[in-house]
Amino acid sequence: MDITAPIDLIEKIVQGKKTDCRKCSNGYYVPYNASVENAHSFYCSNPKCSDCIIIDPIINIE
Ligand SMILES: [Zn+2]
Repeated sequence: MDITAPIDLIEKIVQGKKTDCRKCSNGYYVPYNASVENAHSFYCSNPKCSDCIIIDPIINIE
């Protein structure tokens, strides 16, 4: 599974914006087991889709 996401997509997600899934386009990314501020992984809200994005905590969003 490709978990590398483009930086613009990551920025939208960490800003809490509703971001359409790049894979199925039917779901959006939700933080896994954490608030948006603390989450390092985000999963597609579509139960039929298993796409996930892992965010490197080193990345600093201005
Ligand atoms: Zn999806």
